[in-house]
Amino acid sequence: MDPFDSNNAERANLPRNMIENSMFEEEPDVVDLAKDSTAFPTFPALDPDEVAYEPRSSRLLVRGLGENELDDEEEDCESSARLLGMSFMNRSSAHRANSSPYTRQPPPRSCSRPSVRTMVVCVLFLVIVASMTMVLYFLPGCTFTKTGCRKPNTTTPIEPVYPISTNGELFPWTKLRLPVSIQPLNYDLNLNPDLKTMTFTGHTVITMLVLHNTKRIVLHSADLNITKSTLKLDDNTSIDVTVLEYKPRQQIAVKFTEELKAGQHCVLTLDYSANLSHNYDGFYNSSYTDKSGTKSVLAATQFEPLAARKAFPCFDEPAFKASFLVKITREHGYIALSNMPKAKTTTLLNGLQLDEFEKSSVNMSTYLVAFVIANFTFVSRNVSNTVVSVYSVPEKKEHTLYALDTASKLLKFYNTFFDINYPLSKLDLVAIPDFLAGAMENWGLITFRETSLLVDKKSSPLEKQLVASVIAHELAHQWFGNLVTMRWWNDLWLNEGFATYMQYMSLQREFPQLDIGNLFLGVRFRAMAKDALNSSHAVSAQVDTPEQVAEMFDSVSYEKGASILLMLNASLPGEQFRKGIIEYLNKFNGSNTVTDDLWNSLTQAEVSPQHQSVAEMMSTWTLQKGFPLVTVSRKGDEVTLTQEHFLLTADNTTQSSSSLWHIPVTYVNDSCSLAPECRQMFTLKSKSGTLKLAGSVKWLKLNYKNTGFYIVHYGDEGWADLIDGLKGDVNVLTSEDRASLIQNIFALSRLGRVSFRHVLNLMKYVSNETETAPLTEALLQLGTIYRMLDNRQEQILAARMKVYILKHFGDLMDSQKWEEEGNVSKQELRSALLQMACNLGKSECIHQAKALFKQYIDSNRTKLIPGDLQRVVFTVAARSEDDWLTLLERYTYITYDAEKRTILQALASTQNIRRIVWILRAGLEGYHIQTQELPLVISAVSDGFAGHLFAWDFVQENWDHLIKKFPVGSFAIQSIIKSTTSQFSTQARLEQVHGFFSSLKERGSQMRSVQEAVETIRLNLQWMNRNLATLQECL
Ligand SMILES: [Zn+2]
Repeated sequence: MDPFDSNNAERANLPRNMIENSMFEEEPDVVDLAKDSTAFPTFPALDPDEVAYEPRSSRLLVRGLGENELDDEEEDCESSARLLGMSFMNRSSAHRANSSPYTRQPPPRSCSRPSVRTMVVCVLFLVIVASMTMVLYFLPGCTFTKTGCRKPNTTTPIEPVYPISTNGELFPWTKLRLPVSIQPLNYDLNLNPDLKTMTFTGHTVITMLVLHNTKRIVLHSADLNITKSTLKLDDNTSIDVTVLEYKPRQQIAVKFTEELKAGQHCVLTLDYSANLSHNYDGFYNSSYTDKSGTKSVLAATQFEPLAARKAFPCFDEPAFKASFLVKITREHGYIALSNMPKAKTTTLLNGLQLDEFEKSSVNMSTYLVAFVIANFTFVSRNVSNTVVSVYSVPEKKEHTLYALDTASKLLKFYNTFFDINYPLSKLDLVAIPDFLAGAMENWGLITFRETSLLVDKKSSPLEKQLVASVIAHELAHQWFGNLVTMRWWNDLWLNEGFATYMQYMSLQREFPQLDIGNLFLGVRFRAMAKDALNSSHAVSAQVDTPEQVAEMFDSVSYEKGASILLMLNASLPGEQFRKGIIEYLNKFNGSNTVTDDLWNSLTQAEVSPQHQSVAEMMSTWTLQKGFPLVTVSRKGDEVTLTQEHFLLTADNTTQSSSSLWHIPVTYVNDSCSLAPECRQMFTLKSKSGTLKLAGSVKWLKLNYKNTGFYIVHYGDEGWADLIDGLKGDVNVLTSEDRASLIQNIFALSRLGRVSFRHVLNLMKYVSNETETAPLTEALLQLGTIYRMLDNRQEQILAARMKVYILKHFGDLMDSQKWEEEGNVSKQELRSALLQMACNLGKSECIHQAKALFKQYIDSNRTKLIPGDLQRVVFTVAARSEDDWLTLLERYTYITYDAEKRTILQALASTQNIRRIVWILRAGLEGYHIQTQELPLVISAVSDGFAGHLFAWDFVQENWDHLIKKFPVGSFAIQSIIKSTTSQFSTQARLEQVHGFFSSLKERGSQMRSVQEAVETIRLNLQWMNRNLATLQECL
């Protein structure tokens, strides 16, 4: 999935205490030994093979704001308390209300102020418990493994706490993850959506294989009203079943008296009805209005990660792959699409059409199932035995050709690159008018936002770059994700990191004119900014709850994932990377994997005699958060490199970290620095290492072309040598290397390792810079500081920063042409320079922007504004009262979405407070502005001086509305938090943000993005305290 336009993720509205309960139940030491047996009547014992009693750790999985984790002492006390019967499971919310998520949570009452006596009791109890555990563990024939204890020790009263079903009976399953006793083999799905009443009925037949003897089948179902259920066995006998539902975990359990035996087949049939969803997940309804004002309705799906269960009862975890046979009824005038080609259509007695699709030729995870019912039209083409089609609303048919060309070319590329042909006979790409994510890779039926797929004839190369990127990403998923799927969401990066890497790699090879390299470089820089925070997480991280699953769809899974794959590919010889990938895809074709499976395939594909364990190297990048800082010190021809964790922290006490990485350090020097052959490599595995240079050099530059995921500090002399080199001739280094120096020095300044004076020293060379990558990086970094100063109302310093920027970039800004430009890289640079120029009020820029807008209006929009200049032109126009209204009018009737969104960003950039308030409200209400655009509106509002104050107020006042529209943890919510708080840099703001999120409790306080927001403000504040004096002196 490509979520970066907005949010993507579904989640369950689990009450916070339920989430914690379920996490506790994952671990053996939290089973409530002392539960009241009368309150919980005995339920038939669980199948032993389904009880995951693994005594692997007693660590409690309470994840939240950084300091929220329990330290050892608290953890021990908490375990003891639990064993003493002081269950946490019924902790009242009142108790919880007192605990700020930002400070260390007090341990449970019994241990909150441990007296010596309590401590002794705790310790004694631990000893007893440890002894009991040891005894039980070593009992002959009774092991605490997945297979459980076959003859339960009757003296050990370990019984799980069962939740209560909706009908009051005990629900026979205690975990978030499903039991593994049943394997679904095939689903027959019959769906009957009614687009008038916005409801649907369904008839689902699941054929299953019993893997372990069991008396119940547990699967997922959310918001479905199940009306009938039957279970048939191999011999065609039906047995009576009861369906129990436990809503907080979106699970149902089919219960029966006879035991199903391993090896047996059975068929479960469920009839149900439900409403089409009004949000953007599950089976949802949507509508659009065409140019003539006619409204059309449609229904579409978005199942990743956890919403297939909202359309049909299913085993909704990626490892439960099965085949699917889909049948959908529809009215005349509509088409129905699903993953597979249509097999036949029949007319029913009620006049409806029944479309039956071919049974899927591949086994799929449930999150990849999809269907669309709409009145769309399409264009199509046969490409290597696959019919590729692009669907859109009828009036946008001519906007689909670019996508058809691009998808066709990329399909051929991937067929060859992966050496496995795309396995289905058709591939549909569908533009959905109302779609929250950027796109979704459903097998054979990829759904997109209109802006991610449709391209106008007059679209700029930058817009084409975006569309090609998203198509390349989703197509790569057809292999990485669909053919081979991660076993669980903790390894989401195997899907997303890979698809992100392939999107850049394939475009670099197949569409060099799109110049995707700068974009990928910027992506790596931004991934580092997030991963440098304490709130970051390992690429492969433990996830349990729906919120945690949602939060995995972030920059670490996508962008850091892609960055470390680039680093690996760059460090492996020849074709080893590709060979390893092909081996991996072949070996695991149709099944599920964990991260190590990928590394093992890559190691086995070794092409050089020099053994290098990919797993050994890459586990240092996937199992720990963050990345290294490499410090260089050179004495003659001897260079010492040392590594440490590049951890941005405003708290000096947590600075130490023992993390080490296997870093493939690359370097070039002044005698040979540009060509790939100049690059030398040294693997730094320990804290420090020494390398010998062949001769004397003037300077060294590490991390050639910034393909490595690390930051380099050259020391005062090393930096001075590099700056001297650049002042003499900027072309002594590649543009990626220059951009990397700029990004590195700003990062070092944020870390407190160099003073801002050093940053400004490097910036002196920028007057001679002409390339896009280093210039856009410098503008972005300086622009961020300018905005922070402006927002802090450090007006004198902000004014001086403005003068500084204009002095260094003014000539380049003035030299930009305001006409059509065909080169993508020049467009990127021009758009960054002019946006900064007009933002800073540069009169020439404003004059040109106004003139272009006037031409556009006077020509009745026939004289179009070049795509990359639209943002700056519309933003300047939106400052005038009349032109803002003109833009608003244009916004309401324009159908071309890329321009529509640019106009919306401009409207939201207004400094007029009444209009800011109006536009935020309109986005929330969803009438004038689609709710899918609210994160974009909030981000654009926050960029302005007046807007940033209101945006934050708006988020606080409307938090409950926001999390109804966009689930807690989703990408949209992550984006809203970041855009409204990341520019704050004062103590007062820190306290306000801290206080607000603390008060949310289960309504969002536990999100990683909240911790990130608080950390970021602390770091901004710290940076300002350190550097204000320098800024005053130097600017
Ligand atoms: Zn994706």
